[in-house]
Amino acid sequence: MHRTQQNIISFDLEHWYMATLLRDEVTNPTARLEESVDIVLSLLSEYNTRATFFVVGTIAEKYPNLMERIVGDGHEIGSHGHTHTPIFELNKAEFAEELTRSSDAITSAVGQRPLGFRAPNFSITRKTSWALNVLTSQGFRYDSSVFPVRTPMYGVTNAPVEPYVPGEDSFSKTAGRGAHELVEFPLAVFHPTFRVPIAGGFYARLLPSKLLRKGIKTLNRRGIPATLYFHPWEFNPRVVRTDISLHKQFVSFHGVSSLRDTVARILESFEFGPLRELLPAYA
Ligand SMILES: [Zn+2]
Repeated sequence: MHRTQQNIISFDLEHWYMATLLRDEVTNPTARLEESVDIVLSLLSEYNTRATFFVVGTIAEKYPNLMERIVGDGHEIGSHGHTHTPIFELNKAEFAEELTRSSDAITSAVGQRPLGFRAPNFSITRKTSWALNVLTSQGFRYDSSVFPVRTPMYGVTNAPVEPYVPGEDSFSKTAGRGAHELVEFPLAVFHPTFRVPIAGGFYARLLPSKLLRKGIKTLNRRGIPATLYFHPWEFNPRVVRTDISLHKQFVSFHGVSSLRDTVARILESFEFGPLRELLPAYA
């Protein structure tokens, strides 16, 4: 069966200073959340593209009008936890509580329960694979938290690079019904063998835009959708802070001023949509 290859573009919606790398570092942050989301919404509408926004529950509670605008533009809202706590720092009961609270906050803001989840800091790894069971038991239909390459902060070596139904081993696919009854959408890497992360965020700000486009093309040629992630603040040069360590400045803010152009060229070159639209092809 031939299917036009659709890729996935997603945005993790949190305050920029909630990032694991910055949360203990920054004092007196200015939120700029709405102006950052505005930049992203106008970019998406310019290229007639719909996306998934994984929203932190406390943000959905505080900015219900912004949630309505995102949904009003045809985008999907998923859960990014309630307080942006990485799963490494939670037990099962605490994680379940994070999910319930964020789902309730999203539902009361937009009238729809989220179908999908992205873990703060991509914190679903071999140590926290129990999280997939918790997601299934709470009715989530998909997860997009697995980084199929090991990085200093997260990732799972040799996890599938294409969307899959996890088996008993959460990081290999099953042929039939999976153990978890949800679909995992791993983040994009350059090549199934040559696994350089190209999924977005820091990598898209660091790597040449030509390399990102080549990576998406390589995956698509193999019938694999590229799942990309960004944060709205990464498009807003006004969030840049210079009162933090050079290393953290580099990881957090390098390339912020050119990301809009990079992503515009990607949106121009490939077809993108929200995760919920690709779900039926893999569920
Ligand atoms: Zn996040």
